[in-house]
Amino acid sequence: MLNIILFGPPGSGKGTQATRLKDRFCLKHLSTGDMLREEKSNGTELGLEAKRFMDAGELVPDHVVIGMIAVRVDEVLNKGGFDGFIFDGFPRTVAQAEALDKMLSERETAIDQVLALKVGEEELVKRILLRGETSGRADDRDESIIRNRVVQYEEKTAAVANYYAQFDKVTYVEGEGGIDEITEALAAGIDALV
Ligand code: ADP
Repeated sequence: MLNIILFGPPGSGKGTQATRLKDRFCLKHLSTGDMLREEKSNGTELGLEAKRFMDAGELVPDHVVIGMIAVRVDEVLNKGGFDGFIFDGFPRTVAQAEALDKMLSERETAIDQVLALKVGEEELVKRILLRGETSGRADDRDESIIRNRVVQYEEKTAAVANYYAQFDKVTYVEGEGGIDEITEALAAGIDALV
């Protein structure tokens, strides 16, 4: 299996790029943001619990996200028909990273590489506000919520790259520029693994 974490701040293009890379490398794309929004719109208990954190631009508690993704990983593994995972928006804390590593090792696989997109804060805010015009996401429309998401990233999520760097598993990719160009840079990072 080939398991990739697509890493980076909110608005760095993880979702856009993951959608392109999953087809090229036959990977399953697992986005915790998408899963949480689905839970929210289905009005599940989990969705209701997550809502107040998401609406404020805070992180949803680790146990909620870890439990949710474990269920999905097993569903996908049982079904088969793909070569690995591309994780998008997960792990977002070191505790989530440790839980993911444990989860994968219990299933006799592991993270191969973290591809980390680099984008400056002003560009992130600009992109998310633009996305907010069409995404239907309330958290994309309010600049103070967007800036709080960037703060959460810096305070809690950036450390995930350091966690994987100790295993020599992080590749940084420039995330500003043309979408195709960034896809090619990420694909080169994956090609280097296979
Ligand atoms: P973005 O990358 O633009 O912030 P996401 O769709 O990845 O968008 O996440 C939206 C929101 O969902 C986050 O602000 C957070 O509240 C919640 N969320 C998503 N993934 C996680 C996670 N792994 N841990 C905690 N909260 C998460």
